[in-house]
Amino acid sequence: MLASRGDYSIRLAALAGDQQPLDDACPCRVCSRYSRAYLRHLAVTGELSVLRLLSIHNLTYTLRLMAGVRDAIADGRFAAFREEVEAGRESTQSGEGLP
Ligand SMILES: [Zn+2]
Repeated sequence: MLASRGDYSIRLAALAGDQQPLDDACPCRVCSRYSRAYLRHLAVTGELSVLRLLSIHNLTYTLRLMAGVRDAIADGRFAAFREEVEAGRESTQSGEGLP
């Protein structure tokens, strides 16, 4: 599952009681309606609807990222944009941001 703070598996046991959205920076309808705990429940119980919901989120994430890349290139600030994106993802890899 793609997220601005770093990718993670929706099946993580630590998400079982997590009422946060998949990605608090994402405006998609999945993040605005469903919690990580609910989506994890759908995944571990084999509900196929989770595949559609995660696809909606992942496509939204990817389209927003690519729009940011296009804007950064057009404005001549791609290197700074890349550093911003990587810094946000690194915060998760060090243990921050995710349960
Ligand atoms: Zn989302």
